[in-house]
Amino acid sequence: MCWRCFSTLNISHPEAPLEALPGASSRRGFLNHWGAGLGLAALVHADAQAQVDVGQSSSMRKLIPAESLEQSARQQYRQTLSEANSKGALAPDDYPQLKRLRAIANRLIPFTSQWNPDARKWKWEVNLIGSKQLNAWCIPGGKIAFYTGILDQLQLNDDEVAMIMGHEMAHALREHARERLAKSKATSMGLSVASQLLGLGQLGDVAANVGTQLLTLKYSRDDETEADLVGLEIAARGGFKPEASVQLWKKMLGATGGGKGQPSFLSTHPSGANRIEELEANLPKVQHLYQQAIRG
Ligand SMILES: [Zn+2]
Repeated sequence: MCWRCFSTLNISHPEAPLEALPGASSRRGFLNHWGAGLGLAALVHADAQAQVDVGQSSSMRKLIPAESLEQSARQQYRQTLSEANSKGALAPDDYPQLKRLRAIANRLIPFTSQWNPDARKWKWEVNLIGSKQLNAWCIPGGKIAFYTGILDQLQLNDDEVAMIMGHEMAHALREHARERLAKSKATSMGLSVASQLLGLGQLGDVAANVGTQLLTLKYSRDDETEADLVGLEIAARGGFKPEASVQLWKKMLGATGGGKGQPSFLSTHPSGANRIEELEANLPKVQHLYQQAIRG
């Protein structure tokens, strides 16, 4: 999960270095990606209406043009992969853990566009980077990275990986980065929301220069809850056990000492315990989606 998502848990190694992966040097086309074609094998079941309740996305996000932000995200993604590749830390296409991640993504992607119609046009990409970081992220436009640390240290099963991937996809689908950037820019300019909306139009220059900010952006407590619930629903529709979301967080708490002594600057993020309660309360809403998926 993204460092910002994990930040509530005081997980160590946020900046752990890249590590060469066995076999990574044989990688040929490391900028592999796939479009909507892969993943369409899964049929979208009936009952397309959202089951979890997360409300509307903030209209503030519209101040940042989505296309500019996605272009910036693409550049950042290329740069991150290129750096990893130069250190032999980018998994080749035939790397078993990467194949596993992409197979899971293929089961989730068909259920993303109901949360953001633009996602139909996204060229989803999934890559695996060698590093002890407990980290994974999905930046605007559907560019996903997992780090080997999160898979290895938490010994994640497929259901748990799907919960993390769904959570990260949800941040991108709900355009949380776009919203964060719009709000921080409006604040730094000392402008009210109204004056932004009425007078200044879109902040294209902001989106063009976000670069590494996309990888370190801190989401709000509400963003995290939204991502947990939307991710849970996407994963359930993909046929992954909803209970894995709870198991995942218990596992993380176990791995990080329960998040005790959390610095106050992280207090705006939901605690692990709250997350688990919220997820448990929402399990009944998505159970039938999971049952439909595994029957289908
Ligand atoms: Zn998150």
